[in-house]
Amino acid sequence: MTQLIDQFGRSIDYVRVSVTDRCDLRCSYCMPKQFHDFHEPEEWLSFDELERVIAAFTRLGTRRVRLTGGEPLVRKDLPRLASQLSALPGLEDLSLSTNCTRMNKHAEELKLAGIDRINVSLDSLDADKFKQLTGGKLEKVLNGLMAAKDAGLSPIKVNMVVMKDINDNEVEAMVDFCIEHGFTLRFIETMPVGDMGRKATDQFIDLKVIKQRLEKSFDLVPGVMPGGGPARYMNVVDTNINIGFITPLSQHFCETCNRVRISVDGTIYTCLGQNHNFELRPLLRAGISDAELEQAIRTAVNLKPEKHEFNEHPEKVLRFMSYTGG
Ligand code: SAM
Ligand code: SF4
Repeated sequence: MTQLIDQFGRSIDYVRVSVTDRCDLRCSYCMPKQFHDFHEPEEWLSFDELERVIAAFTRLGTRRVRLTGGEPLVRKDLPRLASQLSALPGLEDLSLSTNCTRMNKHAEELKLAGIDRINVSLDSLDADKFKQLTGGKLEKVLNGLMAAKDAGLSPIKVNMVVMKDINDNEVEAMVDFCIEHGFTLRFIETMPVGDMGRKATDQFIDLKVIKQRLEKSFDLVPGVMPGGGPARYMNVVDTNINIGFITPLSQHFCETCNRVRISVDGTIYTCLGQNHNFELRPLLRAGISDAELEQAIRTAVNLKPEKHEFNEHPEKVLRFMSYTGG
């Protein structure tokens, strides 16, 4: 049972680790095209430091960890980190968020290293639009998705950030694509995280509108997915797929938030939409004991605010999403 309870009574049993702030794509809502102001390698937590931190979290009841970024597969030897973490006693679920550009090479290795399942960003199935939105090649991502499927990573969840007049015309096509391949699909509202996220909220679209539109083409009934995340799921009748709606702006889910994030430089961020944070790296490098590390994690969790203020204060979060992971 988790021993990490925040001041609002929420049990924290899920940690997202950003293993790098670098990325080989530049999604329009995430990172500016010319951005290169990344953390230096000496500032990154090493794999051994990360293992030590996650071991402390698992002693405090964490059962689920997600590796994210930036693009986690840009960090060299990521499967080695996955092996180190998946061997930790108490950790039940190790997953990965990825843009899938490099999955072709790594899918089998990741599966063997203990990655159970993946979430994949995919905002368009049109190669030109994909290029325009991310700067990357759609073909690579699709090849990566198929490699992940062949390697038995499951479930595969496709994340689509829906933007008005940009890709909202593709939601039906994305449902068809996910039905064809047996992928779970999640639609996400754009969040004002960093300058790029704030600009993208000009294209904000309330996912209720998307759901109503999909109900005209697909037979949807309430569904469930294990995992306790923020998505509200609908099952597409006569298929094996679920569609999730992640609505941080139109209907927030802060009262059930169960997670904290660790950035590549070893800072714990307790809320995606606030700045409350706690720096672990200086303590780790000053040689704190395991008991002191556990106490530091408790102190960090105590800083977790009640809720984000994306609607009331969209100007608050300056850091880019690629720094903490989504
Ligand atoms: N590179 C990996 C990927 O794209 O899946 C992992 C990191 S990425 C920051 C994690 C998730 O955050 C992606 O699904 C992405 O679409 C989402 N994201 C990034 N910026 C966002 C924003 N401003 N609003 C909503 N979602 C965002
Ligand atoms: Fe990279 Fe993911 Fe951000 Fe896109 S959303 S720029 S893939 S970190």
